[in-house]
Amino acid sequence: MTGPALDPESGRLVVVGGGLATARVCAAARRKKFAGTITVVGAESHPPYDRPPLSKDVLHGKRDSTPLPFDTDKLRVDLVSSTRAVGLDPVQRTIALDSGTDLPYDGLVIATGADPIRLPGPGPQLTLRTIDDALGLRESLLAGARVVVIGASWIGAEVATAAVAAGCRVTCLELGAEPLSGPLGDEVGRATRPWWDGIDLRTGVRVASVEEGGVLLDDGEIVPADVVVTGIGVRPDLAWLRDSGLDCGTGVRTDTRCRTTLPGVVAIGDVAERWSDRTGSHRILGHWDEAGTAATAAICSLLGLDGPEHDPVPYFWSDQLGHSLQYVGAHGPADEVRVATDDRGALTGATWRRDGLLTAWLGVDSPGDLVRARTSVGGPADAWD
Ligand code: FAD
Repeated sequence: MTGPALDPESGRLVVVGGGLATARVCAAARRKKFAGTITVVGAESHPPYDRPPLSKDVLHGKRDSTPLPFDTDKLRVDLVSSTRAVGLDPVQRTIALDSGTDLPYDGLVIATGADPIRLPGPGPQLTLRTIDDALGLRESLLAGARVVVIGASWIGAEVATAAVAAGCRVTCLELGAEPLSGPLGDEVGRATRPWWDGIDLRTGVRVASVEEGGVLLDDGEIVPADVVVTGIGVRPDLAWLRDSGLDCGTGVRTDTRCRTTLPGVVAIGDVAERWSDRTGSHRILGHWDEAGTAATAAICSLLGLDGPEHDPVPYFWSDQLGHSLQYVGAHGPADEVRVATDDRGALTGATWRRDGLLTAWLGVDSPGDLVRARTSVGGPADAWD
């Protein structure tokens, strides 16, 4: 009989990452009485920090840092910052670092998140993923500046909100028919249009490239800009795993116990394309709640403990354009959507349903309904009519 990948007394746990998933997995390991060594390898120079406040409090000048609870002494973690993993050898059980050394592991957690997708072109183009990005962007949001935000989804809407608050003249260019069309569909997105008052929102436009002084559209028009912020989505960087034999799609494929196809290797957070029994598919969730709650299942898998499966009802939130949005569930493209609006036609909530059952709920400025919504997903939808 083979034992667990990670010996609970003397195993070597290596975590590659530096965000929420990393902080949580180190804490979970010690909570589960793992007594071996923990080494965290992170590409950034900062200890793990939280990202949602970057596009909210940090851009609005309310905070300059967003640290996560992560006490290296208490957790007995060796934090190797400003260092990137560049290769994984599953036979030798080592990861190669850009410092030139190979780091052995018995249990490996891949928690490398995702990187913003950039557009072609030689012009200056800001993205928002790190604290350094957020502080740099905040400095650029000067009153009167012409800010072009590319993408009217989560990040785009939150950046536009901060830019307007800073007194910038904001144009937002969106490929889809409506803001938030991608994640929430056209009908829900259309009902958010009244929120965009004071912003030049242009939908159904395709950006060809970012040039000096502006953005080039595919019909040849140049939209002038002092600042261009691209918020068109993120993608995990899997280049360093290419020769490892790991099963990868857009992210690293895992089961509901966060196990990859390699023994002793788990993946969590934005890099993980996790199987869900709820949807019958592998999906990257890409949200804070998913990254924060997978740790216990991942550590139990490495330690060979009978831990929980990780397949929660998905949840995320966004604060944008004066509104607080909360979403729970997972709707499919064929689900029936019911949109609630106020007398201006502005969104006040939405539900999605299939065969009479609630598949997802979106609350607008109604945090008090969240707990009920969370427990109703999968149950009769008419309770929300
Ligand atoms: P990350 O936090 O991305 O951390 C990954 C770390 O790994 C990074 O530090 C990276 O540098 C490092 N890394 C990458 N490759 C390597 C390598 N090869 N070697 C070493 N280190 C590497 N979610 C919500 O639900 N609600 C929100 O309102 C919300 N707002 C957000 C706002 C912003 C601006 C951003 C960027 C994200 C937001 N999110 C939000 C998403 C949420 O923050 C992420 O889901 C979460 O941070 C994912 O955590 P993670 O630990 O998986 O990855």
